[in-house]
Amino acid sequence: MQPLSGPSASPLKLDPRAIPPGLHLIATPIGAARDITLRALDVLAGADVLVAEDTRTLKHLMEIHGIPVGGRAMIAYHDHSGDGVIERLLGVLREGKSVAYASEAGTPLISDPGFELVRAVAAAGLPMTAAPGPCAAICALTLSGLPSDRFLFAGFIPSSQSARRTALAEIAQVQATLIFYESPKRLSALLTDMTATLGTGRQAVVCRELTKRFEEVARGTLAELTEEFSERDVKGEVVVLVDRAVPEEVTEEAIAVALDQALLTMRVKDAATFVSQTLGVSRKIAYQIALSRPKD
Ligand code: SAM
Repeated sequence: MQPLSGPSASPLKLDPRAIPPGLHLIATPIGAARDITLRALDVLAGADVLVAEDTRTLKHLMEIHGIPVGGRAMIAYHDHSGDGVIERLLGVLREGKSVAYASEAGTPLISDPGFELVRAVAAAGLPMTAAPGPCAAICALTLSGLPSDRFLFAGFIPSSQSARRTALAEIAQVQATLIFYESPKRLSALLTDMTATLGTGRQAVVCRELTKRFEEVARGTLAELTEEFSERDVKGEVVVLVDRAVPEEVTEEAIAVALDQALLTMRVKDAATFVSQTLGVSRKIAYQIALSRPKD
């Protein structure tokens, strides 16, 4: 194992060295204040300028961890800040200063502001780094018990029923665990639409109030969770995860039909490769069936 890089000082003390110039994206806790990383605290203690989606929230977090703002500038930046704030921050970065940016909670840019700022800093070729940390989607995935090898982060999907069902239908067949953010008020409607669009039997998980006092992980089929949450007045923050669709079994007849079509324009080998890829079946089996098809 490679030794961990970083300061050799006691890990419980902040690293007093100056923070290098550039934008530092900091992940902040999604509930438990102690989930902040030591590196994020270093950046908050040492950055020349502090930028936050909500400056009061950042100030409060810094107070909890005993980090004074001192005489440093604190600037608000969110989705509606406009180009003026971005230009101002680019100017600060061009002066060779260090800038810390934190969104309201969790990882910036993940259903949170920061994208336009990051894009502008990248386009300007200015230095930028991230101090990674808490993210509700990843925390929920790790607790869910659903497959974690592939996942699709869908974030907040539209809130009107028809747009929500369309959005769900678009990703219904994706072979990955689906992850959604939702407000507690709309949880029941989301589960109802998921049952209607993705089917009643899929395994799903609702993670509520992660890392907080009333943390809850509810598992079941979509039908079971829809019933459970339709009767509850849900409070707090929630992430919903849904298992991937079970791939439909492809019959020998379906493979033969696809092969007959492909063989109209392709040679046996190419037709077998094409059909195996489109239907997700073994190439060897597709090839054997292709060989057995009538020639004309
Ligand atoms: N940037 C954040 C992240 O990295 O997870 C997400 C910000 S987004 C505006 C807020 C949504 O994240 C909430 O509506 C909820 O879906 C989810 N979320 C945030 N904190 C959570 C928590 N402690 N437990 C469950 N879900 C949470």
